[in-house]
This record gives sequence, structure tokens and C-alpha cells, in this order.
Amino acid sequence: MQWEVVIGLETHAQLQTQSKIFSGASTRFGAEPNTQACAVDLALPGVLPVLNRHAVEHAIRFGLAVGATISPASIFARKNYFYPDLPKGYQISQFEIPVVQGGTIDILVDGQSKTINLTRAHLEEDAGKSLHEDFQGMSGIDLNRAGTPLLEIVSEPDMRSAEEARAYVSKLRTILRYIGSCDGNMEQGSLRADVNVSVRRPGEGLGTRCEIKNVNSIRFIGQAIDVEARRQIGILEDGGKIDQETRLFDPGKGETRSMRSKEEAHDYRYFPDPDLLPLEFDQAFVDALKAQLPELPDAKRARFIAEYGLPPYDAGVLAMERASADFFEQ
Ligand code: ADP
Ligand code: MG
Repeated sequence: MQWEVVIGLETHAQLQTQSKIFSGASTRFGAEPNTQACAVDLALPGVLPVLNRHAVEHAIRFGLAVGATISPASIFARKNYFYPDLPKGYQISQFEIPVVQGGTIDILVDGQSKTINLTRAHLEEDAGKSLHEDFQGMSGIDLNRAGTPLLEIVSEPDMRSAEEARAYVSKLRTILRYIGSCDGNMEQGSLRADVNVSVRRPGEGLGTRCEIKNVNSIRFIGQAIDVEARRQIGILEDGGKIDQETRLFDPGKGETRSMRSKEEAHDYRYFPDPDLLPLEFDQAFVDALKAQLPELPDAKRARFIAEYGLPPYDAGVLAMERASADFFEQ
């Protein structure tokens, strides 16, 4: 009897703002460690976060590009946990009401089109980075990344194969690049995916999932899914059961490893951040952003087929990057 693989993705996109989401420090990549962390990013006593308007604009632009509902009022929450690269002891995120709700992304696999539903997209700040190389028996902390604006984009568990997941991330990256919200550079970590995988017999309810953290290339996302699905099928066929847990993908060994079980899972004690006002804007603000949206990849592809009689495949390849599409039409 066959197994069906079920996949849902949580993707973090670093937004292309000049400064951080709640401070004026620069977000430029590749600076010397700890040269771009100001008092707010370091969480010194008495500092107050101030929301970066451009981060909000990027989130709204993304929501519009995927046909989502934009919440005219949302709030920021504190997600509490301890980690050396998080000096505040909490990450500012959005919990109950995200700024972007729903939306869809269409993917093309083997010439077949499929719609993947989005659950939500919310604004949050990135944490710093722990550096384990170059420090014998110790770790270094680089807080340059602390406070970098992120849009976390959560999909419904709508994907059914590694190919579909790869096509989804690739399409998501194309859209983010078109609207100028994220450079999509997975190697530098500006786009990162947490991959949720479960398996089931066709027709059954959802199986227990495992979440593979922080996979940083489209190829690895595909490999991680195949390896993890095989592991789960092996356990179930031996009469075992899947424990819900967080796992890491090791591309060198071609395996996933347990990081923490559900019992050890964080209790983040989310609560509204008293330092920040609710995020509120009017429809005119949204409409102005909508008016500036570029022609999006699906529309461009369709127009290339209709207007120039291009074969659908060629039109798709050209429309994948805004630069190649513009070059074609010059
Ligand atoms: P959490 O916030 O605890 O990570 P969510 O319910 O918000 O949990 O789901 C997170 C991600 O996991 C979503 O992308 C969702 O589509 C996916 N997901 C949920 N259940 C399953 C499942 N049974 N199999 C695969 N993916 C799943
Ligand atoms: Mg999760």
C-alpha cells in the first residue's frame, strides 16, 4: 500500500530595509561582528523599540502579491525564550493577529498547476548569531543580525512531494524578489525554511509531523523531505509510531537528527508587547502600495504567452526573474 507525504513550510524572509525593524542600526550583510548592533538591539535597560514603516510596507506588499487579507489592526507580542544570541530574553513577533492572513501561491510541477494555501505571514525580528568556528571550546556571539526584520510566511500542509515543496519555495522567492522585499539569498540566510513533514495512507487524516529546522537551500529542502519521509515510513511499517519533534537535516550524512522532542518544546508565554503600539493603518495606505506593485510573475508569464506566442515553458523561465523578463522586453 502506498504512502502519501504531507508537507507544510514556515519560511523566514529577511526584509530589504536599510535599518532594523525596531532600531536605526544598519542591516547591511557582512559587516564586522557587533558593529551594527545599537542599544536597542543589545537590549540595554530603558531603551524602547520604534517600528520601521518600511518593514510594514514590505509585509503589505507581499500580502497583496499573494491575494491575502491585510489586517488593518494587528499587535506585536513577546515570544519568551532564553538563548545567548537573544539578549532581551524574548523575540518581538506577532501571534494572535498577524498583519497578513491567507493568500495563495500557484506552483507548476510536471506541467501541472497547483494552488498552495497560505495560513498567514507575520512580522518579527531576527535573533543574533552564535559563532562556533574560530573559538576553541567557546562560542562567539554576533548581534549584527539581531533586530533584522523578518516576514514569517506559513503555508497550509498542502504540498505532497519534495518537488512541490521545491517549486513552492522557488516561487515564493521569485515573488519576494519581484516586489523588492527580500533578496532571496538562501546561502546568506536571507531566506530560510522550517520544513514540516508527515506521512499517511491516502484518505486518512493528517499524520504526526516532524519539523526540520532552518534548511538553507532549495536542493536541501528536497533532500530533507525525501530522507525524513523515508524514515517515518520505515518506523510506521515496523509497527512503530512517530514522535512529534524538531529535527535537523545533515546534508553530509543525508539524514535528519532529533533536536528536541515535543515534551521539551518551548512554552513561549506569548503576551502583547507593552512597549509597542498596535499596528494600525487605513485602506488608503494599502491602496497606495497596491498601485505601486509591479506586474507579478504569473501575469507576466501569461502575457508573454499571449503577446509574443512564447511556449509556456520559455515564458515561465523568462518570468522567473524580473531582470531577465525586463531584458527580454527591452
Ligand atoms: P507550530 O506553530 O507549532 O509550528 P502550526 O500548526 O502553526 O504549528 O504548523 C506549522 C506548520 O506545520 C504549518 O506550515 C503547517 O502547514 C504544518 N503542518 C501542520 N500539521 C502538519 C502535518 N500533519 N504534516 C505536515 N505539516 C504540517
Ligand atoms: Mg513551527
